Amino acid sequence: MFIETKDLTKNFGGLVAVKSVDFSIEEGKINAIIGPNGAGKSTFFNLVSGSYTPSSGKVIFKGKDITNLPSHKIANLGVARTFQTTNLFEQATVLDNVIVGHRLRTESNLLDAILRTKRYKREEKKCRDKAMEVLDFVGLTGITDKLAGSITQEEKKRVAFALALATEPEVVFLDEPAAGINPGETDGLADLMRKMVKKGITVCLIEHKMQMIMKLADKIMVLNYGEKIAEGTSEEIMNNEAVIEAYLGG
Ligand code: ADP
Ligand code: MG
Repeated sequence: MFIETKDLTKNFGGLVAVKSVDFSIEEGKINAIIGPNGAGKSTFFNLVSGSYTPSSGKVIFKGKDITNLPSHKIANLGVARTFQTTNLFEQATVLDNVIVGHRLRTESNLLDAILRTKRYKREEKKCRDKAMEVLDFVGLTGITDKLAGSITQEEKKRVAFALALATEPEVVFLDEPAAGINPGETDGLADLMRKMVKKGITVCLIEHKMQMIMKLADKIMVLNYGEKIAEGTSEEIMNNEAVIEAYLGG
């Protein structure tokens, strides 16, 4: 088992955003979570990545109970995530955005930075090299010196991927990576996710674009009002009564 949730539940006051979800994220695969707006998809991501503490239930990562670990500790174990909207420093270059994003997670402390110690400089070089490497991986070598405020929506999505990849994760959680971009660009991002899997990174994404998911995902979970109503391959999902009901029924 790679990542498993057991009876995972999150209440916000009287609202049950995620309700007793048992799900297993398959290693080396593209896993997807779909469901109508407000179904609990982002909350599920927040629970698994440690941004939220569950009301009850467990998250197990490679046999280790990570349920109550703070998010930075979970990140250190190799779990990366992107958010529904990526906030970049618009006045900084693409490269600097990735370097800074990465630096915030490295161990060098503020005193090292102020004194510009050898260790700090060594880390700075490492961060820059890593940033160039991941920007190349996501296909942005040509725009590393552009200001982040001047790049396209699709390029911003790729920067978000680069930020996640800079941490050398084992698994990346991508929250609606293809929101707000056109179909051609969506295909490009789908290819990038396949490339990540080839590199040995497990992918778990939330997506609204059903066509994309059906072509891309190896395993899908469908949430509706916080509950898992189905899981399986695209074929299984498309023929599932409960899923058809949730999407088409009233
Ligand atoms: P999805 O990502 O599937 O659209 P969310 O996980 O964002 O759904 O939200 C699920 C439900 O939980 C929604 O009803 C939402 O309003 C509620 N919710 C999400 N986050 C919070 C929060 N921090 N505080 C209160 N309610 C929240
Ligand atoms: Mg969401």
